[in-house]
Amino acid sequence: MFRIGQGWDRHPLAAGRPCILGGVAFPDSPVGPVGHSDGDAVCHAITDALLGAANLGDIGRHFPDTDPRWAGANSLELLREVVGLVQKAGFRVSNIDCTVITEQPAISPRAAAMQDALAGALQIASDRVSVKATRGEGLGPEGRGECLTVQAVALLMTGQGDE
Ligand code: MG
Repeated sequence: MFRIGQGWDRHPLAAGRPCILGGVAFPDSPVGPVGHSDGDAVCHAITDALLGAANLGDIGRHFPDTDPRWAGANSLELLREVVGLVQKAGFRVSNIDCTVITEQPAISPRAAAMQDALAGALQIASDRVSVKATRGEGLGPEGRGECLTVQAVALLMTGQGDE
């Protein structure tokens, strides 16, 4: 049996903020996401996709941004925690696909590293994690460089024969 879920996240970008996406640092990025946690919108979108597929609520319910425990939180660790919840509910992750919409940083040079880091947290092979990127082409807040947005889709499976 399969379950599908989608996730979406957007964070403002600001100069001088550390930039961590998909659990990977972008030390040469002039901007980074602003957020209560580390602002890793890739991890957040994937976390929400997993929670949606398992019908376990959303990331704000599990890690509220009003809780000081999650200030500066490592979002890859939050993702790992949600993978545990999904497994406890009887699911395994089949695959993930996500798209990062941003002007900067450039995603593609580190996409493979992001896939490896995410796959580690998801406990699946890297070839089951797709990280894609596109730009806003001057349109909307992404195109003006004001924010980055991430869309993610997660497929979960229950049976042994679902591979
Ligand atoms: Mg977020």
